[in-house]
Amino acid sequence: MTKSAPLYNRLALIGVGLIGSSIARAARAQGMVREIAATARSAATRQRVAELGLADQVLDSNAAAVAGADLVIVCVPVGACGAVAAEIGPHLARGATLSDVGSVKGAVLQDMAPHVPDGVHFIPAHPVAGTENSGPDAGFASLFAERWCILTPPNGADAAAVEKLAAFWRALGANVETMPAAHHDLVLAITSHLPHLIAYTIVGTADELGEVTRSEVLKFSAGGFRDFTRIAASDPTMWRDVFLTNKDAVLEMLGTFNEDLAQLTRAIRRGDGDTLFTHFARTRAIRRGIVQIGQDSPAPDFGRPHPDLPLQPLPRPYAAPSDD
Ligand code: NAP
Repeated sequence: MTKSAPLYNRLALIGVGLIGSSIARAARAQGMVREIAATARSAATRQRVAELGLADQVLDSNAAAVAGADLVIVCVPVGACGAVAAEIGPHLARGATLSDVGSVKGAVLQDMAPHVPDGVHFIPAHPVAGTENSGPDAGFASLFAERWCILTPPNGADAAAVEKLAAFWRALGANVETMPAAHHDLVLAITSHLPHLIAYTIVGTADELGEVTRSEVLKFSAGGFRDFTRIAASDPTMWRDVFLTNKDAVLEMLGTFNEDLAQLTRAIRRGDGDTLFTHFARTRAIRRGIVQIGQDSPAPDFGRPHPDLPLQPLPRPYAAPSDD
């Protein structure tokens, strides 16, 4: 990736966890902003951000952080976005772009838009990239490389401001797509939110089994369960907010999922091998398609160091349904 001139003068990050710190690292690595101002809710996180040198200024309040910024990215859990917008709204500079990284877009639009003053470009965004880790230490500059970043500009958004934000994300390594917030929420309900719900369920179910001991679950976890445990280790606050704010789309996808599960259950009960085989063959082709378009590696890692794998963990889409 060749470096080009900074796109923005001052980037303000509200919330510096996995995503906020990755943006700071990547924006700096690519020289996309002249300076970075950052703030987080707790003094402990702010101190850690300063220790890690992730920002030029670490400020105590959201209002102070956004002052003079021409790009503000809110990187807090979806449920907190509205309150943050209410707090920073009066302090946003005219002509600035206000964005976020929330995993649900309809709720963010609804909660933040009323607080955005005239003359500020509000362009919600969702980088579809992440890991199960949280906090400023968890981020890394290549998190967004070859991952998607979905922009959901409201009707009437300024085209030049949208393109500039898209260029920012492309400079961080992401591929950018634009779509309506409601469509985003439907797509992510099946590709990300439902898989997380299933992982949370299955790991909880295993934990409650009486006749299989906890040590056996851990010992034999390579048989598929291990991948679920990684997804089920994702941040509880973030995922609580996702399910509370994308309720309708998740319930719609869950309805379809339950019907399909009932069909497979029936096939197992009836010994209907053809139905099972046809289904599994179809899903195997989907996995191969994901590898083919470069959204995951075909290399098996079995959770252990592998000579063919890069030393750094591969940045994986947190949205990948089963093998991630
Ligand atoms: P994270 O590592 O837990 O960081 C969250 C940040 O938000 C921290 O700085 C935290 O401050 C702050 N915060 C938490 N609750 C807050 C509140 N009520 N008010 C104000 N600030 C608050 O989370 P993350 O993984 O970066 O996720 C941030 C956003 O990115 C979420 O909206 C999530 O949906 C979205 N996202 C996440 C992923 C992923 O895989 N994790 C991927 C794509 C998008 P303290 O540390 O001081 O508490």
